Amino acid sequence: NRIPIGSPVRTQAIINRYFVKAKKNLGQNFLVDQNAILGIVNAADIQEGDQVIEIGPGIGSLTEQLLLHGAKVFAYEVDDSLPKILQNELPAKIGDQPLDQRFHLLLKDVLQADFKKDIGAFFDFSQPIKVVANLPYYITTPIIFALAESDLRFASLTLMMQKEVAERLEAKTGSKAYGPLTIATQTRMHVELALQVDHTSFMPRPKVDSSVVVLTPIEHKPDVGRRAHFNKVVKMCFAQRRKTLNNNLKNLIPDADKRAELIASLGVDPKIRPEDLTIAQFIKIANAIA
Ligand code: SAM
Repeated sequence: NRIPIGSPVRTQAIINRYFVKAKKNLGQNFLVDQNAILGIVNAADIQEGDQVIEIGPGIGSLTEQLLLHGAKVFAYEVDDSLPKILQNELPAKIGDQPLDQRFHLLLKDVLQADFKKDIGAFFDFSQPIKVVANLPYYITTPIIFALAESDLRFASLTLMMQKEVAERLEAKTGSKAYGPLTIATQTRMHVELALQVDHTSFMPRPKVDSSVVVLTPIEHKPDVGRRAHFNKVVKMCFAQRRKTLNNNLKNLIPDADKRAELIASLGVDPKIRPEDLTIAQFIKIANAIA
């Protein structure tokens, strides 16, 4: 019957007890809304025995609920003042297991992670591994790319991020949010928007509202060819969003006739703007240029 860490009173008590000063440069906004925390746990569909990588446990608001819902948690954190707090404040025992059998903290920048090596001693690779995080927002996109490009195949990624980034991940062709991040993500993963979280759910409150997104790997990924080449072509097609595809392709294909030929082969209006091209059409363009 303990008061959860992710409640305003308990978080405030922890802040007072350890003189915690939320570090803005590390994106520290702690969740103090039990509905939001349980919403994330539900979105990740946490079951007894699940293996979860958490990025940035902070003072443990989300970690605590992951553990109480049966997960084994491996966490990456960079703030070296937090291990002591987590050790003291997370439940000493979960069921009949001591905390250290269920929770392992690695003080390491997640962008330097070597997932297989780091978690090898703690997790069983023959079983699914989920990622769950209230992300540090200053590195949301690099973290998503690092996870997407990892040689570990995650069962799912349940990530809280700025609302605007979530909108870009799940954008549809033709919308304002549709762009390189949408395409890089949707060629690898299904994107599902699970819940919206108001900025008042955090301590301290960030300026922006947040969304929780669930990403699951696509079984049969479209063949985009060489990933670096594909990403570069997509990026260049979007170099100037307001201009036509033809204009944006000038650097990649200087010859006007060749450009016209490629655009004609896509079966689209020559005046089409990049945001109106489907992912399949971007793949066609990248293949033609390769
Ligand atoms: N999970 C906690 C919660 O929901 O209340 C804290 C989330 S807070 C938005 C982000 C956390 O990520 C902070 O604890 C911060 O110290 C940590 N962090 C920042 N940069 C990091 C990095 N490069 N690698 C791992 N953790 C990082």
